[in-house]
Amino acid sequence: MKDLETELRKIRDEVINCKKCSLYKERINGGFYPVIGEGNHQAKIMFIGEAPGLQEAKTGRPFCGRSGKILDELLGSVSIKRENVYITNILKDRPPKNRDPQEEEIKVCVSYLERQIELIKPEVVCSLGRYAMEFLMEKFSLKDFIEPIGKIHGKVFKTKTLFQNIKIIPFYHPAVAAYNPSMKEILKKDFQVLKKFK
Ligand code: URA
Repeated sequence: MKDLETELRKIRDEVINCKKCSLYKERINGGFYPVIGEGNHQAKIMFIGEAPGLQEAKTGRPFCGRSGKILDELLGSVSIKRENVYITNILKDRPPKNRDPQEEEIKVCVSYLERQIELIKPEVVCSLGRYAMEFLMEKFSLKDFIEPIGKIHGKVFKTKTLFQNIKIIPFYHPAVAAYNPSMKEILKKDFQVLKKFK
């Protein structure tokens, strides 16, 4: 049987050495770190964001900047400890000037995320933002249910992999709440659904 910690370390080492897209050069030139993911390796709940921002690339930690503060507040609002969940992103390196991820970058990077999901085996995977939502719903045979996030935020989609039942919940990206208190209220309301799974 594969040892979870060994396999996760393997992913970390591969990401550190990955040169499959140009974001590697951005990382080296900027003196940044890749952001592999952090949290509980037995987590029931996993969060997938888009890509590291500046603060994340400076520290190697996901969601530790402005969006991270909002995510922390949302987790706190449903009494979920950050250390009990696992948090990662679609892209492991920061796109320059925080531009949107490119299709080619997503294509080469998601294999790491797919392996992280297979190893951690969460019951619930939450997407934060459109890129993660589209990736997860396509990967988990929910393509026909993809709609604008305004229609499906906070909904629980039950699906199956070869090995497990899994639930996908699309959320707005926390960044939308940075300057918009009403969006924060919507996010808080949506996060209530997680109480069932903690
Ligand atoms: N935004 C993301 O999508 N991910 C992070 O880690 C930080 C900000």
